[in-house]
Amino acid sequence: MQLSILDRLQILRGDITKLQVDAIVNAANERLAPGGGVDGAIRRSAGPELDEACRRLGGCPVGEARITPGFRLPAKYVIHTVGPVYRDGAQGEPHLLRSCYINALKLAEENGLRSLAFPCIATGIYGYPKKEACAIATEAVTDWLRGHSLPERVIFCCFEQEDYDLYCEQLKKLQTMTSEQ
Ligand code: ADP
Repeated sequence: MQLSILDRLQILRGDITKLQVDAIVNAANERLAPGGGVDGAIRRSAGPELDEACRRLGGCPVGEARITPGFRLPAKYVIHTVGPVYRDGAQGEPHLLRSCYINALKLAEENGLRSLAFPCIATGIYGYPKKEACAIATEAVTDWLRGHSLPERVIFCCFEQEDYDLYCEQLKKLQTMTSEQ
């Protein structure tokens, strides 16, 4: 039996490095160089092998994604994607942020991954307004899931209560829309 899109989505509050999934997504920088925030947490848990694997990749443009093993993480893989630094929203930021989600999902599909967890990309150091970022993330993921069977399951892993509340509200809206159709 095919699961509905909403059954394939989950919102969690917590630390993405603890999740036992096929892949977690990292909010990386263009050089794939060690950073703070979620990137720092992922590197600390994965061990120095991840730094070496990232160095070998030689960077990643904004909106694109790259995959490495998860090394010492419970997740098998890390998909690194680079969000846009938010200026005023008129510099292509929405399209670039959507591309991060779509390209990460594409890599997950190409690698046969069944479960994938996202942090709230670009909403930390890169300054993307949380509410707008949440709308883009949920729309990109639901659009993808409508047309693809992999990944089977997508988790939005919110580190902050504010993000968790926004995602819950957003998915509730989607639920209402789905049941009204
Ligand atoms: P960016 O540079 O793309 O803004 P950040 O790492 O600064 O990336 O922030 C992205 C999001 O990751 C923020 O919402 C932040 O709260 C969240 N975050 C930080 N640490 C973790 C973690 N261990 N697990 C999940 N999310 C995290």
